[in-house]
Amino acid sequence: MLPRAVALLTLVAALGVHARQPTPPPSPDGGSPAEQTALSPRNASYRIDARLDHDTRTITGEAVITWRNTASTAAPSLQFHLYYNAWRNTESSWMRERILGGNRAIANRPAEDFGWIDMTAMRVTRQGVQTDLFPRRRFIAPDDGNPQDRTVVEAPLATPVAPGETIEIQVAWTSRVPRTFARTGTIGDFYFIAQWFPKIGVFQDEGWNCHQFHSATEFFADFGTYDVRLDVPRGWMVGATGREVERTEAGDRTTHRYYQADVHDFAWTTSPDYIEHRARFEHPTLPAVDMRLLLQPEHGSQAERHIEATRAALKYYGEWYGPYPYGHVTIVDPAWQSGAGGMEYPTFFTAGTRWLQPARAVQPESVTIHEAGHQFLYGIVATNEVEHAWMDEGLNTYTQARIMDEAFYPHYYAKRYFGGFVPWVFRDLPLTRDVDGNRMPAYRPVAGNDDQSTPTWRYWPGSASAITYNKTALWMHTLERMLGWETVQRILSTYFDRYAFRHPDPEDFFSVANEVSGEDLTWFFDQVYGSSNTFDYAIDVFRSQPATANGFFGEPGSQTLEIRQMPYRTTVVVRRLGEGIFPTNVRVRFENGDEERWQWDGRDRWKLFEIERPARAISAEVDPERVLLLDVDMTNNSASLRPAGDRAATKWSLAWLIWLQDHLLTYGFFV
Ligand SMILES: [Zn+2]
Repeated sequence: MLPRAVALLTLVAALGVHARQPTPPPSPDGGSPAEQTALSPRNASYRIDARLDHDTRTITGEAVITWRNTASTAAPSLQFHLYYNAWRNTESSWMRERILGGNRAIANRPAEDFGWIDMTAMRVTRQGVQTDLFPRRRFIAPDDGNPQDRTVVEAPLATPVAPGETIEIQVAWTSRVPRTFARTGTIGDFYFIAQWFPKIGVFQDEGWNCHQFHSATEFFADFGTYDVRLDVPRGWMVGATGREVERTEAGDRTTHRYYQADVHDFAWTTSPDYIEHRARFEHPTLPAVDMRLLLQPEHGSQAERHIEATRAALKYYGEWYGPYPYGHVTIVDPAWQSGAGGMEYPTFFTAGTRWLQPARAVQPESVTIHEAGHQFLYGIVATNEVEHAWMDEGLNTYTQARIMDEAFYPHYYAKRYFGGFVPWVFRDLPLTRDVDGNRMPAYRPVAGNDDQSTPTWRYWPGSASAITYNKTALWMHTLERMLGWETVQRILSTYFDRYAFRHPDPEDFFSVANEVSGEDLTWFFDQVYGSSNTFDYAIDVFRSQPATANGFFGEPGSQTLEIRQMPYRTTVVVRRLGEGIFPTNVRVRFENGDEERWQWDGRDRWKLFEIERPARAISAEVDPERVLLLDVDMTNNSASLRPAGDRAATKWSLAWLIWLQDHLLTYGFFV
């Protein structure tokens, strides 16, 4: 752990971390070294004061943003995200996309549910001179030109911000908290507040990277320090990014001050109902982490499961990628029907569970591991989630499935009845990592819908998640079977080490993979990332018949007829049904226990293999080791010439059992 931490510090020093930052407040526990020394460029830091008015569901806030231009070109304007305006009306790009993707009902949500954010001030201070930018601000829609979208605001500057220059921006705003959309909002007296303040975009050499809020994508921001005062009703519990460093009571209000350095976002929650649990993660080679769990009272019995799943994520991510440097993490179990579950924020995430959650079902472990895993991919390696969402969601889904397999195997298929209240766990249906963990069933029907290399916000909204999460998990696991886990693990740790607290692009990941594996994997990435091609290899023809007499019963014209054992000619035709090309092999098994294997580059649309052997063939399989997990139809990968053996029976019985038990249970309950 230490050598890596030192390397990070050296890297940050080389980047030239700027000194003008909000002063870190005194930390109640003396502060961890990670809070004292810059791990990241810290070029977008916020001091925020916000007040929640529960009666009107309103937040009023003020922020001072200390922003440094880290690009090599001057910034001619400032751009900010105003995410809450996605739910201002049904004409925002977010709403239009959500409706286009098939969710028509969302347009009919009551007016009461909607929310918005209005800026009330915007000033900039440079070399002691303050300029009011508020009158110059205008809404822009850089992605789709939608004049109704108000999720990005821009203010032109009379003098551009030079490379390396630091400015201070004062903003103020009022917002109405929505009834949850996109996991931020309120229900009753539960609040989960995310994407809630005017957030400055990321200025790059090419200009502002400040996308509108899209229905299928998340966020992208620069690192900084957050020093945030949250004024909420007295007696309400608060959880947030960072650690609480100060608490002030005044009348029926309490102000909670949270502080965190080296993060790129800040979210928080408040509710009078939370039950708090604390635990600690300890490991022989990784830094300790204080875990704070805010649980709904009705889920008290599940506290240990959330803690254990978080522990598993910190352990395996720590061992496979690198250490978690913040020393603390907060896990939130959102209120029932809040819609806030399953989302990541720096040092802070929501899991989500149900009242009855049987042991060895997938939840709440799976979602907890996923969101804890985002602390590493998204939190520390801060990729652009709007353009390359697969880099966090996909790699994280792959890793999540791997951790579930390591730490919580076996786990079983579960189905819920009576409006989701009553769970039933199918103990004879263990879920497999390669199919269920990698989410093949949801990928298969939409596999060709988008090139993964298309900016994610332009994916078809209805299948964006399958291309982002599922496809990546499948191709990463395929890579693991091609290269071996040891090599893939070194790829992941090298990538993490090199790009922690930075914004790597897809090419950065691919070049680490090539470098560490010592192979040129371009052919692979060009297909799985650079195209929408799907993979499907199939056994088309499989015959094994006695060979004809010609040439087999003695030489023509020979005097003595030599009687040999009857040979069989085995014929296999393998087809490439998809556009994707993947080198593979074909295995034939014979009655006498022999085996024959042919390598195939997988290029032609079909390939004939023939062999003559003394025994009859009984089975033929293409890709018998199931290396190519992206193959969208595994049922055509094998053929058999005798009544289904044990393996085939097992394969089919799973599907059959799901169907049967589903129906038995349905009739048992309702007839
Ligand atoms: Zn995720």
